[in-house]
Amino acid sequence: MSGFSSASIERVKEAADIVEIVSAYTDLRRSGVRFTGLCPFHDERSPSFSVNPQEKLYHCFGCGVGGDVIKFVEEKEGLPFPDAVEALADRYGVELEREQEDPRAQEQRRVRTRLGELLKRTAGFYESFLRDAPQASRARDYLAARGLRPEVLAEFGVGCAPGTWDSVLVRGQQAGYSLEEIEAAGLILRSQKGRGHYDRFRSRIVFPIRDARGRVEGFGARALLPDQKPKYVNSPEGPLYSKRRTLYGIDRARPAIAKGGRALLVEGYTDVLACHQAGIRDAVAVMGTAITPEQVKLLSGYAEEAVMALDADRAGREAMLRAQGVAGGRRLRLRVVRMPAGKDPADLLAEGDGASATAFREAIEKAEELPVFHVRTLLDEGDLSSPAGRDRALDEVVEVIAAMSETITREELIREVADRLDADPGLVARRIAGAGRGSGRSRSPQQQQPQSPLAEAGGEPQAADRPARQRTLSARETRELALLAMCVAWPAEGRDYLERLRDEHFSSPVAARACRWIRDHPEEPTRGLPDGDEPLLAYVTQVAMRAQRERGSPEAMEINFLELEVAAADDQIESVQSGGGEPPVELQRRRAELAERIARAHG
Ligand SMILES: [Zn+2]
Repeated sequence: MSGFSSASIERVKEAADIVEIVSAYTDLRRSGVRFTGLCPFHDERSPSFSVNPQEKLYHCFGCGVGGDVIKFVEEKEGLPFPDAVEALADRYGVELEREQEDPRAQEQRRVRTRLGELLKRTAGFYESFLRDAPQASRARDYLAARGLRPEVLAEFGVGCAPGTWDSVLVRGQQAGYSLEEIEAAGLILRSQKGRGHYDRFRSRIVFPIRDARGRVEGFGARALLPDQKPKYVNSPEGPLYSKRRTLYGIDRARPAIAKGGRALLVEGYTDVLACHQAGIRDAVAVMGTAITPEQVKLLSGYAEEAVMALDADRAGREAMLRAQGVAGGRRLRLRVVRMPAGKDPADLLAEGDGASATAFREAIEKAEELPVFHVRTLLDEGDLSSPAGRDRALDEVVEVIAAMSETITREELIREVADRLDADPGLVARRIAGAGRGSGRSRSPQQQQPQSPLAEAGGEPQAADRPARQRTLSARETRELALLAMCVAWPAEGRDYLERLRDEHFSSPVAARACRWIRDHPEEPTRGLPDGDEPLLAYVTQVAMRAQRERGSPEAMEINFLELEVAAADDQIESVQSGGGEPPVELQRRRAELAERIARAHG
């Protein structure tokens, strides 16, 4: 349900250059009509990733991923389907048509578009003011003192709001916007006394806050004068901006996050800038210290892991621990970077000799898993000098460790706790086993989650989410795939087999569905696949690409078909036997006959 007409989605696919798009992630070489390269979805040494520029399809013979050009952008750039379509349409200059939408939604979209244009225009004004205006020298000096270079300021569109009361107000009106619109965009305030309006941001460094696609949604503004209060002002919540949904820098960081599967969470705007300037391209900032469920949802679309490099003060530590509860239901692994007290990433990266920057990078790589960080924090803060104090600390850490899945990390942590508490590791382990069985005591937030996020992240990806990925096919699955591919490669002979194949011939529902789909769409099976049915899309794509790679032969089709008949007969025999019965004689005779025909077919 993208809201776009299927004709315009087809036009986007036509216009998109899949080789260009994939090449941003892996080097492709031409090989006949196709391009091949190392798979950007799994680690490999020899290329099994294949791109078909005519069909606009990709497929990996190693890990089984595959799909069309839109699917690639969804997966690799971490965009939901409608956004991936829009991003490609923007890039290749295709105009998208929307399907009929109700008048209210249409009106809302019109308002949002207009406000978005006003914000973009205003961001441009702030940016040029910072770059050129003599009055902005203090802002330029501040940013330079933080070690931020003009290129990174330009990349993020950093600007400066002048000290005047009506620069933005007047410019907005001159551009044809009404007072109501400028107010709805969060750019002006109504004065208390009179009926006048004035600019919301004055004498401030302004950071445009953009959504994942780079559209300005609002601004964060830092005070420029020493006595100016408050230090930070943000756009108000409105039709475009919502603090809870926003991650500063997500538009610039998205490709790196999707590529590496990791996001680095920092606190401030300048931390994000400093990280990106230093080549740490997956950094984004949470707006405020608390991480919201909306932000976790946004991140878990792109990343498997979020590494938090937040302030090491008490509030910062508590925010990180609360994040565990927030992330619990999502498949997002959380780790914590130990930051030196009173330092933020921008400080560390700006320090002259580069030693702190190196230490910061190492700290990111060595970031502790959140429960480990939690346990160490409890031990650091507990009074371990008396037996009673050590008992209290043990009570607290037992709760945290009991919620962890059983890993080597957990085992090592248990030894570390025993060591620090001067206790027998057996005692600690017994206490944890007791807590794990549920002692009826109140449980900490992360334990209320159905499953620890660490366990989820560490476990096998759920089959429904990631079909056929990272898994080798069984002999039967390979035959199913090969036969369907040959049916596509040899349409005349294939039609006969497609008619004879039944669901029982296949070992998985998706393969059976793919067979039915191909039977109904034999000419171009990859065209018009239903949106949202990813397993079917992946399977049919795989079939289509295999059809081009290895055409097989009518003889091979016959053998594969007979083998699938045998497999279906075996299934039937097995199900009779598992019910305690004896398979009917005809079934056994048929099984034997099939085996004989296979032997003959092999010649
Ligand atoms: Zn792969």
